[in-house]
Amino acid sequence: MSNNKITLEQVQEFMTMLTSGELPEGLVMPEQPALTPTAAFAVIWYLQEYLRVLPDHIEQCCICGELFDADCDGHIVADDDEDDPWTKAQGIDPALLKRYQGAEFCSESCEHAFWSDPAAYVRPAPMITFTEMNQ
Ligand SMILES: [Zn+2]
Repeated sequence: MSNNKITLEQVQEFMTMLTSGELPEGLVMPEQPALTPTAAFAVIWYLQEYLRVLPDHIEQCCICGELFDADCDGHIVADDDEDDPWTKAQGIDPALLKRYQGAEFCSESCEHAFWSDPAAYVRPAPMITFTEMNQ
């Protein structure tokens, strides 16, 4: 695939451009975008999943909003996570794992924060769109 060479750093730079209008050195635009992080990631998601321009393993953490490369870091809640030792050690209810399947975390500390009180992160945090997608 042609998108394999686009790095996490480049997608982060794109995210910065979309949210703050901050441009890479040498680029000039008459009008810079100022999207919310959620709207910016919606653009990235469209370029990943629909147009297949950006690598689809770059994900956004549900807790801190940082982008991460799911091929190297982080964790995405999957349907077989109830057998996962970390998940078992945290005592996470299998029903919650099923409910929040697809939730994405950049780090163990973000994931731990989520599971300590999942409902606190679902609303109004607009980053948590997977609940709608999975219902
Ligand atoms: Zn995070």
